Amino acid sequence: MIDVKKIRAQFPVYSKYPEMRFFDSAASAFKHQSVIEAMMDYLSFNGTNVHRGVYQLAAESTTKYEHARSVIAKFINASAEEVIFTKSTTHSINLAANSLGLTLQSGDEIILSELEHHSNLLPWLELASRLNLVVKFIPLMDGMITIDNFKTVLTNKTKLVITHHMSNVMGYETPLQEMAKFTHEVGAKIIVDAAQSIVHIKTDVKALDVDMLAFSGHKVYGPNGIGVLYIKSGLMSKLSPTEFGGEMVDKVHLDGSTWKSGAYKFEAGTPAIAEAIGLAKAFEFIDSIGIENIHQHELHLRNYVVDKLKDEPGITVFNKHGESTLLSFNIDEVHPHDTSSFLDQHGVAVRAGHHCNQLTMKYLNQDATVRASFAIYNSIEDCDILIKAILETRDFFHSI
Ligand code: PMP
Repeated sequence: MIDVKKIRAQFPVYSKYPEMRFFDSAASAFKHQSVIEAMMDYLSFNGTNVHRGVYQLAAESTTKYEHARSVIAKFINASAEEVIFTKSTTHSINLAANSLGLTLQSGDEIILSELEHHSNLLPWLELASRLNLVVKFIPLMDGMITIDNFKTVLTNKTKLVITHHMSNVMGYETPLQEMAKFTHEVGAKIIVDAAQSIVHIKTDVKALDVDMLAFSGHKVYGPNGIGVLYIKSGLMSKLSPTEFGGEMVDKVHLDGSTWKSGAYKFEAGTPAIAEAIGLAKAFEFIDSIGIENIHQHELHLRNYVVDKLKDEPGITVFNKHGESTLLSFNIDEVHPHDTSSFLDQHGVAVRAGHHCNQLTMKYLNQDATVRASFAIYNSIEDCDILIKAILETRDFFHSI
């Protein structure tokens, strides 16, 4: 059982806004106290670069940065050499697309789905148009990816399967382990956008057997400006960097330089040091509570809200048929931005719009939707206020 009161005391934002009913953690989550403190400590009492200076303060900075890498690697059951620090999921996926693109040729097939966030769609579509790749989309079943449907687009020409672990609109989990198995059977690689799943479900890159996996710090109670790209070690050594500059190089020659090995060859320039240190603290916090406990808490809250709303007239719930940690809905005839503004007047924060996911909106036949996402600091009391605010908003608009 999650003691929400105790948890909230660890999130400073609640000391300023104790009445806030925050249901937008899927966009960016509040920051845990330990994250803020670790970043403040580095910024206040160190601030030096990593991997460069040999004096004591710089060595301490490098140690902390590399320790952070190890903590994050352990969280996803990878080795530290397989963890690249990036700016965000978006940066990670662009890096993945550009680097993998160097291994592809015209006519190669890649697989995507209409559930992908623009960050996991546009880099691949751009690559496909540059290299003349064939793009196939997995047919969806009630907003979900199923193995049977996945197999209909997988061929011997498939080189990359690009998918998410949890959709940011539906919140459903993909059958990743099985997808990876079938992907490898045709000799292709599977690349995963884990931006949404990483904070809700156990991510074990070895058990899942994925080739690449990307996520961001700001959705895991950690800082903005930092992300991760995991690349399986066997694949990492075969890939070339696509960003060049300080510290990623081994020997500089006028005609062909050589690169450092492992993750370092993908980390050109000065990294986000405070953010990496903060991110490790976020994962330590999650580990201290247990990700399975967090997930159960969120599912409980989400199911509580769905049960109360699913049969209410004038409200359409788009993802009521599966397990999810978010609620996607619309009040009939009310623009999602109006719904969101009305909920805000009740102190309820939700996300409204296309969620950087225009293909999924098209699939749902909507211009936009409202999304309430559930996190470790949400309580049943929050949910009651959310439900009341949604029903009052519906009643207001439907009476005029
Ligand atoms: N993929 C998914 C599924 C997301 O939800 C998000 C963030 N909304 C992203 C990718 C992009 O993350 P970022 O903006 O941190 O790069």
